[in-house]
Amino acid sequence: MVKRIALLGATGSIGSSTFEVVREQSQHFRITLAAAASNHRKLCALAHEFHIPVLVLTGIHDPLVQSQIRAEHPGLKIYFGTSELLSLLNDQDYDLALNAIGGSAGIEASFRILERGIPLALANKESLVLGGHLLAKQFKQARIIPVDSEHSAIFQAIGKHPKSELRRLIITASGGAFRNTPLEDFPGITPERALKHPNWDMGAKVTLDSATMFNKALEVMEAHWLFDMPYSKIEAIIHPQSVIHSIVEFIDGSHLAQMSYPDMKIPILYALSYPKRYASELVKTDFLSHQNLSFESIDPQRYPLFYLGLDVARQGGIMPTVMNAAVEAAMQLFLQRKISFTQICHYVQRTLDGATQIDDPALDTILAANLEYYQKCLELHG
Ligand code: NDP
Ligand code: MG
Repeated sequence: MVKRIALLGATGSIGSSTFEVVREQSQHFRITLAAAASNHRKLCALAHEFHIPVLVLTGIHDPLVQSQIRAEHPGLKIYFGTSELLSLLNDQDYDLALNAIGGSAGIEASFRILERGIPLALANKESLVLGGHLLAKQFKQARIIPVDSEHSAIFQAIGKHPKSELRRLIITASGGAFRNTPLEDFPGITPERALKHPNWDMGAKVTLDSATMFNKALEVMEAHWLFDMPYSKIEAIIHPQSVIHSIVEFIDGSHLAQMSYPDMKIPILYALSYPKRYASELVKTDFLSHQNLSFESIDPQRYPLFYLGLDVARQGGIMPTVMNAAVEAAMQLFLQRKISFTQICHYVQRTLDGATQIDDPALDTILAANLEYYQKCLELHG
C-alpha cells in the first residue's frame, strides 16, 4: 500500500531530501499535501513534478499575489495562511505527516497532527523544545517518529528494548564550524563563516545553532521528551566525523550506535518506512574513508550556549521557549551584523535574566511568550 504523506516545510533542506527519498521510493510513498511559507515557485514546481494535489503557502498574505499565483498554475489547488494549513491537516486524508517547518512556527502543526492520532515524523525540534510537556501527553494517541539524525539513531538502537534496560543516551555532536578556531578569533567570526557546516548540509537556523552548539542543547531536550529520560541520563559528546549518530548505553554496559555517512536521507527514509526498512541506494558509507572516529568533551568556553541550554532545560516550564526565542532574535542581530558572534550568548543570557518562569504553560502561553521574548531580545540592541 502506498503511504500518503503530508510534507510541511517542503521547500527547505529536509523537504528537498524528502523529495529525493520519495523519488527513489515512489512505489511506497506519495506526497498528498505539501506546505511552505512563501517560496511559491519551488513549491509549485515540486507539485507539478510529484503530482501533489493540495498545496499550502502560509506566508503569502496579499490577496493580489495569491490570485496571481493561482492564475499561473490553474491545475494546482493552492491554499493560503496558517489557519488553512491547520484545518487541512484536520480534514485531509493522509497516513503520516513529516513536519520539517523551520523554527517555532512548526509547533501548532505538530499538535494538530497528533490530536488527530496520525503518526508524526518530526524534524521540527522546536515542537518538543517548546511544547514537549504538552506533546508528551498526546504520545498515547499517536506516535512520534524522530527525523533528527541523533534521535533517529537512538530510536533505532533502542528498538524493542524496554526503558528499564537503558542506562544512558549519548548524543553525538560534530562540534560545528568553529571546533578548531582559536578562541581569540571568535569576536571576528562573520555570518558567512557561521553559515558553513563542516559535515551536514542544512537550513540556516540549524547550521548557526550547530556553530554555537545550542543545537545540541535543543537535542538533549528533544531526547528527554521523546524517550522519557531524565536529564541526568542524557549526555552529549563531540564526534567530529559525524558517522556515529548517537549511542544508547544499556544496563549491562553494552553500547549500540547507529552509523552511516552523514546524510539526512537515511533518517528521513527510516521515519517514512518505519516499522519496515526499504532497499535504498541513496546513501553509501565507506568506512575506509573514515578511518579515525574520535570523541571529545564539549568545552564550556567555546560553547557557552550549550551549557546555558542545559540549565534552561532543567528549569523547564516556559524557559526553553524564552531561550529559543532569544537565540532566534540574537542570531537575527548577528546575521544583520549588529552584534558579534560572541555577543549572541550575552543577549540570550540577558533575555533569560528578565524572564518570569511559568510552570506547565499552555500552547497559547507558549506562543505568546515566544513572540514577547523574541521582541525583548531584539530590543536589547536599542
Ligand atoms: P529550512 O530553513 O531549510 O526550511 C524551512 C522550511 O519550512 C521551508 O520549506 C519554509 O518555507 C518552511 N516554513 C517556514 N515557516 C513556515 C510556516 N510558518 N509554515 C509553513 N512552512 C514554513 O530548514 P531545515 O529544512 O534545515 O529544517 C527544518 C526543521 O528541521 C528545523 O526545525 C530544523 O531544526 C530541523 N532539522 C533540520 C535538519 C537538517 O539537516 N536540515 C536536521 C535535523 C533537524 P519557505 O521556503 O517558503 O520559507
Ligand atoms: Mg541533529
